[in-house]
Amino acid sequence: MDKKRILTGDRPTGKLHIGHYFGSLQNRVKLQNEHETFIEVADVQALTDNFANPEKVKNNVKEIIMDQLAVGIDPNKSTIFLQSMVPEIAELTVFYSNLVTIARLERNPTVKTEIAQKREIFGESVTYGFLGYPVSQAADITAFDATIIPVGEDQLPLIEQCREIVRKFNSIYGENLKEPEAYLGENKRIKGLDGNEKMGKSLGNAIYLADSEEEIAKKVMSAVTDPARIKKDDPGNPNVCMVAYYHNLFSKGEVETVCEECKAGKRGCVACKKQLIKNIVEHLAPIQERRRYYEERPEEVKEILMEGTKKARKEAEVTMKKVKQAMKLDYFE
Ligand code: ATP
Ligand code: MG
Repeated sequence: MDKKRILTGDRPTGKLHIGHYFGSLQNRVKLQNEHETFIEVADVQALTDNFANPEKVKNNVKEIIMDQLAVGIDPNKSTIFLQSMVPEIAELTVFYSNLVTIARLERNPTVKTEIAQKREIFGESVTYGFLGYPVSQAADITAFDATIIPVGEDQLPLIEQCREIVRKFNSIYGENLKEPEAYLGENKRIKGLDGNEKMGKSLGNAIYLADSEEEIAKKVMSAVTDPARIKKDDPGNPNVCMVAYYHNLFSKGEVETVCEECKAGKRGCVACKKQLIKNIVEHLAPIQERRRYYEERPEEVKEILMEGTKKARKEAEVTMKKVKQAMKLDYFE
């Protein structure tokens, strides 16, 4: 089989949630056996909207690495690295920023949605850094010659933006960079507990992989359900109920009965929620057990990140050399 490069990653803005798990992590675990995988802890990108909160970003670095290891990312197969310690990515970002217009970035649907959600951070005018994060993401991908990018649906406009930058680069400086493609799983976008189209760390609507049984119970109990269903024997509509939605993910083999009984007004919301809580807790138990192994061994986690970063940096240096040659920035060679 033709071995390809994979680049994927997460912003250390919080622990990883079930949206990551169904949207991206399961694919990563599968693909690491088939292709060479690089997983970026995107601390520089996290700072674009958390610049005033560096402690938060720093503290979440180890959390998201432990989450990856807990779901089955194998450090012998995948390279986990820290974005800020690969300065070639920042350098590439500067070069690529000439290849994209401000109007194009402002039109990017993902950037547009996120700016609207972050009004309290940016007020009326967004920072240059946040507006430009798709450019830095193009640098993340191309620094490793990656062509397969396992992501959630929210990332599609960012991958498209990267492809445009690659084409522009190649048309000016010669064929040097590869156009990446998004790799979407069956579950492209997992909704939030509040019914929002996307579960997100920064949206306060997530069930985290590391949540305790009590936390899971509290969250499921307060999840959005059919607002028209008031009494237990009112017929419910599972299509507008987040509990039914998560049953689809966690209750294989039971979900049909759950929905039928809900529609017939035979199953109360409380019983339905309790069943979901039990299934989520059972599903996450082995993941949390593996997480505990790493929580007790912080040195091992640090070592994995250091080794991965060293390896990633070597790869990025190769790309940097190629890019500088293409851009006639190889003065002393
Ligand atoms: P933040 O709110 O800080 O942006 P996030 O929850 O969106 O955090 P990211 O670190 O930005 O998480 O995303 C990491 C990866 O997980 C991306 O590939 C993204 O598409 C995917 N992802 C995030 N949330 C979901 C979701 N709800 N459903 C499917 N995939 C998701
Ligand atoms: Mg995000």
